[in-house]
Amino acid sequence: MPIDLRSDTVTRPTPAMLEAMMTAKVGDDVFGEDPSINALEAMAARLFGMEAALYCPSGTMSNQIAIKCHTQPGDEVVCEKSAHVYVYEGGGIAFNSGSQVRALEGDRGRITAEQVSLAINPDDVHRARTSLVTLENTSNRGGGSCYSLEEIRRIKEVCTDNQLKLHLDGARLFNALVAREQTPAQFGQLFDTISVCLNKGMGCPIGSILMGPAVFIKKARRVRKVFGGGMRQAGFMAAAGIYALENNIQRLTEDHRHAQMLAEALEKKDFVRNILPVETNIVIFELEQGGCAREIAKELKERGILGHSISANQIRFVTHLDVSPAMIAQAVEIIEQM
Ligand SMILES: *Cc1c(COP(=O)(O)O)cnc(C)c1O
Repeated sequence: MPIDLRSDTVTRPTPAMLEAMMTAKVGDDVFGEDPSINALEAMAARLFGMEAALYCPSGTMSNQIAIKCHTQPGDEVVCEKSAHVYVYEGGGIAFNSGSQVRALEGDRGRITAEQVSLAINPDDVHRARTSLVTLENTSNRGGGSCYSLEEIRRIKEVCTDNQLKLHLDGARLFNALVAREQTPAQFGQLFDTISVCLNKGMGCPIGSILMGPAVFIKKARRVRKVFGGGMRQAGFMAAAGIYALENNIQRLTEDHRHAQMLAEALEKKDFVRNILPVETNIVIFELEQGGCAREIAKELKERGILGHSISANQIRFVTHLDVSPAMIAQAVEIIEQM
């Protein structure tokens, strides 16, 4: 069995999570009658100190619902140029919301309050109406980089002063929380809406949660139905989510330690030119000779490690629940032998 470091989405439910799923109480969630879904939504809202929450099948759907609810056709959404909402959601902002993107060049996926401030269009009929800012924490293409709360506070201030909504794509927010010793409530206070993924480091087979004010979530529930995301006895999945929120957050520090170990092994290799600073569970490394990511990924695969070539000369490793300490030790040994 290869050591699968392509993504933290490849995890399979553990026996304990499966047990929680199999014993879940369920009902028809489109009727609002699934007790496990209702419990998960209440639990997430409470955790983040937000009014309400909505369970969605994927992080992409959570983000797209949020953008749809925050914008009108012809609006402009401000985000970083490598943001998942912009680059990896199939053109969803244009497709679903009829809005366009102002993509900013950030620092490892993170933008600043000054950049946001300069990107806001004036109230002029020639210009698109700037209505929404979305941040990504941790940043996927930024190599798992995290925002400081101070910078988010500054961005929030710009948004408040200019009547812009602030959405967080928190697909890997729990990684940031444990790495920076921040609390969910601190984020709940700063953002209008937050999406978090349960299907990544949290170890669930599917699922994401969108949180925000009660009136917003009511609207979001309607949009989820329109997008085809209204599910029936989804409580089996919610039970996995509840299990994950109760058991799988603190353990993310182990994934972060594993990512550090991989980076230390890679640092010594001649074929590696540069490694993005490892802050959480993602290791992105750039190769010495431009354009050979596929070749190196192929060699890694032959030796038993699966990585993801994310550009012509960059490979990404992601650590997760299904990568044990023994597997990391083995991966380090394989890298050392290359
Ligand atoms: C994975 C991811 C998403 C969406 O995930 P789904 O695969 O649709 O659940 C959104 N944002 C970021 C930053 C991600 O890494």
